[in-house]
Amino acid sequence: MNRFLIVGSGAAGIAAIQSIREVDKISEIVLVMGEKAGYYSRPGLAYFLNKEIPENQLFPYSKNDFSKLNIRIVYGIVEKVLPDIKNILFSDGKSIRYDKVLLALGAKAVRTSIPGNDLDGVIYLDMLSTTKTLIKKAKKAKTAVIVGGGITAIELVEGLVAHKVKVHFLLRKDRFWGNILDIEESRLIEKRLKEEGVIIHYQTEIKNIVGKKGKVFAINTNAGEEIRCQIVGFAIGVRPRIHIAEASGIKYKKGIWVNQYLETNFPDVYAAGDVAQVYDPHIDKHVVDSLWSLARKQGQIAGFNMAGKKEEYSKDVPFNVTRLAGLTTTLIGSIGQKGIDHQTEIVRGESETWHEIPDAIVCQNNFDNNHIRLMIGENTIIGALIMGDQTLSEAVHQIVDQKINIQSIRNDLLNSQVPLGETIADFWKNWSKENAY
Ligand SMILES: Cc1cc2nc3c(=O)[nH]c(=O)nc-3n(C[C@H](O)[C@H](O)[C@H](O)COP(=O)(O)OP(=O)(O)OC[C@H]3O[C@@H](n4cnc5c(N)ncnc54)[C@H](O)[C@@H]3O)c2cc1C
Repeated sequence: MNRFLIVGSGAAGIAAIQSIREVDKISEIVLVMGEKAGYYSRPGLAYFLNKEIPENQLFPYSKNDFSKLNIRIVYGIVEKVLPDIKNILFSDGKSIRYDKVLLALGAKAVRTSIPGNDLDGVIYLDMLSTTKTLIKKAKKAKTAVIVGGGITAIELVEGLVAHKVKVHFLLRKDRFWGNILDIEESRLIEKRLKEEGVIIHYQTEIKNIVGKKGKVFAINTNAGEEIRCQIVGFAIGVRPRIHIAEASGIKYKKGIWVNQYLETNFPDVYAAGDVAQVYDPHIDKHVVDSLWSLARKQGQIAGFNMAGKKEEYSKDVPFNVTRLAGLTTTLIGSIGQKGIDHQTEIVRGESETWHEIPDAIVCQNNFDNNHIRLMIGENTIIGALIMGDQTLSEAVHQIVDQKINIQSIRNDLLNSQVPLGETIADFWKNWSKENAY
């Protein structure tokens, strides 16, 4: 009988446990939880913050679901893996032996080093506990300053607006999320934020945060402006938690480096989810992702391999459905922007794959709230962004994911006189009919 040790109770860790149990009903599984809150939807934190869902809806599993998995739960913070003697060490000095261990440690929001960063009121949208603290603060705050350029930054902005806090949104560049969105898409989102009362400061950075009695009182910008505020929120990227790998001699670059079986350079030590750096066949590189569905899939494959059912991880096309300033937005495959100063860090809900500059021709329809942008490769669509009306998003997802040959409609797609949406819809209808089993 094996002892499987799973470190981390997020999407990857739980998916791994489910896979192990599918294969092996009797071995011992020990789940190490670093957070008292256990397993919850991290993307859901944004909707908890903006009051759309109550706290109990963040938990996908009931106690009963957990008991069916027949696992032992241990609370603690792991500091090191000792692969030679197959043990993990906790911060309190205790240790546990394992036969196979999965590191599903997730990623941590990048902390700011700006002076004043340790004041009460400086926040990150990272964990349930910190989100609850933020909600308490939002109930009392009048003004907040948010810094960052991706999904989490906008979720912070909108979450605070929902609490009737006046929000100043500081963008380092001249537009929102410039390495993923094109200029019209950025402007559309900015316009909608402004309509919600958000004050956007372009090309602006915080010089320092001013405190009074240990609490945030104001910020000073590089433009010499002072903004009085009680909350300063940062969403400036995430970094895989690699410190355990570093302490243990496990190979890492940006994330913990794994092979196609999600195994590290040490036998029986696996990594999955936001902490892992995995091979992406779409761009022929090892990349880090911060996407729930990919974390689950990696956990699932790692679990199978740990339990002895050999399975290769083949990365799906990165896919995310999110909301930007109230507009449902689906992002699929390679959609990065040419000519943009690319950041090295990804933000939550992103894939590093999206940052690759695709070799593609862009075609798109109108720039109202219902908008489609397709990245057209030689014979396939390699990426897409769909805002507003989502009727076509599943079809486009399949076309990109399955690398379906679109030669028959390529010229039409590139012809601005031909309606994009209808061309795709007809193509998909015909393709589905011809390829029905
Ligand atoms: C605000 C927000 C919005 C997001 N939006 C989206 C979105 O729109 N779409 C999308 O696809 N994804 C989104 N994500 C990202 C998504 O939540 C992650 O990709 C996913 O949760 C990763 O799962 P994971 O299991 O790898 O890591 P996590 O869910 O981060 O879990 C890691 C666990 O490991 C534990 N841990 C860490 N270190 C230790 C240690 N030393 N000892 C013991 N335990 C430890 C942590 O406490 C944590 O419980 C969002 C995330 C956030 C926070």
